[in-house]
Amino acid sequence: MYVENIFEKEFARNTVFIDQNLLSPHYTPKELPFREAQIKEIGSALAKTIKGRKADNIFIYGKTGTGKTCVTRYAIQQLLDFSKAKNLPVNGAYVNCRTHNSKYRVLIKMVKDFYPDENFLGFSAAFVYEKLVDYVNQGKQLVIVLDEIDKIKDLDELVYSLTRGNDEVQKGGISVIGISNNLMFKDRLDPRTKSSLCEQEMIFPPYNAPELREILKQRAEKAFKKGVVDESAINLSAAIAAQESGDARTALMLLLRAGEIADRKNMEEVTDAEVKKAKSKVEEEIILNMISTLPQQQQLVLYAISSLSINKNGIRKLTGQIEEGVFFSGDIYEEYKKMAKRIKEEVVSARWYRQYISELEMYGLIVSTASGKGIKGQTRLIKLGFDAGKVHDVIEKELMYN
Ligand code: ADP
Ligand code: MG
Repeated sequence: MYVENIFEKEFARNTVFIDQNLLSPHYTPKELPFREAQIKEIGSALAKTIKGRKADNIFIYGKTGTGKTCVTRYAIQQLLDFSKAKNLPVNGAYVNCRTHNSKYRVLIKMVKDFYPDENFLGFSAAFVYEKLVDYVNQGKQLVIVLDEIDKIKDLDELVYSLTRGNDEVQKGGISVIGISNNLMFKDRLDPRTKSSLCEQEMIFPPYNAPELREILKQRAEKAFKKGVVDESAINLSAAIAAQESGDARTALMLLLRAGEIADRKNMEEVTDAEVKKAKSKVEEEIILNMISTLPQQQQLVLYAISSLSINKNGIRKLTGQIEEGVFFSGDIYEEYKKMAKRIKEEVVSARWYRQYISELEMYGLIVSTASGKGIKGQTRLIKLGFDAGKVHDVIEKELMYN
């Protein structure tokens, strides 16, 4: 009897895609429409390095999906290509601080990039720092991109080291481009760190619907087979993303998931209906991703709320009724302190905690209300904006990973 190989069907399956990877958030497109001004601005700031001078440090911020990462990578790549062609002593490193989240890890990542043949694992931070200074002292201009810079736990120390490095070297220099999705991060920085990092500032604005439509159109032409994607499916994806956040990643994810849905159903077209079906899945992915990019202390606060929601009854009103998932701000703070101690993290003051609560609320991750009638005393009541189990799982992964 003929038994078909289990992969036969999958292999022969029809697909609407030419290359799905082109829609992934990790893909860096060669063209970046609507960001010409930002590319130019970064370019002119970095131009000093090709003339042998240190560039101003730049701090870039804006919401997720506004093109900060791809624009900066593009500008750096152009700088490296140019310097290589002209044989100029310029070099650069791109550091994703989600993975390299301490001064030590950032320094190691840099020297690994600059001395590709040597191994630095296990060496002290002081040694690695000296290697970096030696490298610069050859007369090199370095540009270091610290993407998602808010993830670095001892950022003040890192910035201080880099500043000191610049003072120590006779030749060459180190310039830093810091990037953050967190609009308020800058204001939390130590004043010295802030003035050093923010010599020049750039804000990336959200994209509007027509801009997203154009970005999607360009990408869909390469990612999907000809004629597969309905124009109105593109317009709808752009409209949804523009309305929610102006985030190009959301827009691209909507199209990607819509295409996957079409494939699963053996359809030959991607229409509005598939985009609508993709919407809730993409929203969830985006939220979970946003949580994983939060600074650790805010993650801990969210983690405390999700643990309470899972393990404890909500508040009891004077009527005796229990409100599931709703907790007193003070009880959450107590739970947060316990968790911070458990993972040996610093415990922030009640004032900072309230600041975190208002930021989490601004991101729509929690909802808070002043306790009104039916509750004893005056306090804030807080509730998670999303499924506690899912929130709990992502944060647990993040905290374990770091
Ligand atoms: P951020 O770093 O601000 O969160 P990214 O640079 O990661 O944003 O961009 C998110 C996604 O959107 C990526 O897949 C990127 O390729 C795409 N994207 C962003 N801006 C543009 C643009 N102007 N043109 C084409 N694609 C873009
Ligand atoms: Mg980014």
